[in-house]
Amino acid sequence: MADCVALIVASGRGQRFGAELPKQYQQLAGRPVLRHCLERFRSHPRVGGVRAVIHPQDRALYDAAARGLDMLEPVEGGPTRQDSVRLGLESLCAAPPGLVLIHDGVRPLIDAALIDRVLDGLAGHAAVLPALPVTDTLKRVGADRVLGTVERQGLYRAQTPQGFVYDRILAAHRAAGAELTDDTAVAEASGLAVAVVAGDEANLKITDPADLARAERLIGCALQPRTGLGFDVHRLAPGGGLVLLGVRLPEPLRLIGHSDADVGLHAITDALLGTLGAGDIGSHFPPSDGRWAGADSALFLDHARQLIGAAGGRIEHVDVTLICERPKIGPHRAAMVARLAELLALPPARVSVKATTTERLGFIGRGEGIAAQAVATVGLPA
Ligand code: MG
Repeated sequence: MADCVALIVASGRGQRFGAELPKQYQQLAGRPVLRHCLERFRSHPRVGGVRAVIHPQDRALYDAAARGLDMLEPVEGGPTRQDSVRLGLESLCAAPPGLVLIHDGVRPLIDAALIDRVLDGLAGHAAVLPALPVTDTLKRVGADRVLGTVERQGLYRAQTPQGFVYDRILAAHRAAGAELTDDTAVAEASGLAVAVVAGDEANLKITDPADLARAERLIGCALQPRTGLGFDVHRLAPGGGLVLLGVRLPEPLRLIGHSDADVGLHAITDALLGTLGAGDIGSHFPPSDGRWAGADSALFLDHARQLIGAAGGRIEHVDVTLICERPKIGPHRAAMVARLAELLALPPARVSVKATTTERLGFIGRGEGIAAQAVATVGLPA
């Protein structure tokens, strides 16, 4: 087992949020809130493994949120947060890590620097809390009137990840009685001294829809726009099974290529790779590799989308132009927009599908092939 494991606590039902979908699975910048947490811990070089503690009814939501990430098998939580953390800690017992970071699955903006501060703190302490001093004046309020002013000197707001020497926090949780609101409280109750490191204002907890909007703004402000260009051509032949932009068209035509030859998805995949400077589709999926024979090109697109996600980026917009005499694109445009939006996890308003001809000129004009060009706009961390 790695020396440091991150436990992401995501088993809450979030009654306060007022939505059917638990808040850790709400969409933030095109991905579930929880996925942001998982990716940020998974990509941290000092974190060896990441395990989520989930609600028993959320397995399908979790699987979708964690798709493609190299995670430890999730475990099911209990009736309270404290039960869930204890079950998560117990699940690591067979191969105990040296250190454990316990993080709320609804704090998606955790950054590598804060993880580093907590881990640095653990070099000299068995329990470390990231926290921020209270700067607003605090009032005690009863009904609708102020009862008094609370001295804020020495008051801090606790955040996560809270870091611990694994054996010590496991023992503290096993011994804990009454329900406590965070893990350093469990540590304190067992007599462990808790060191404090600086928290991060951006590491907000998603509690209500306004927090989600704020997190969305913070992510947007931290990203810089990049533009990528893609172009592709495939030969047309008689037959059937024509797939364009992920939509199978009822035409007596097919495109020739190693994969399903979806020229539109290939152009978009290249545009997305272009925003990362990550080569082209051929370098990721060489035609010489038999695995991609007849492959659904949605796989290639998803690979590019995942690379952008892993880089902490977000796809803002995709615009593709199909260039052909036939088939006629107009009748299928709405289906193509819907399919692309689904594949890219974008609202349909951020996907554009256009079509043109070459006025019967050249190979496209003679109906020998279809070309596609695409432009992708992606926000990436500076
Ligand atoms: Mg191609």
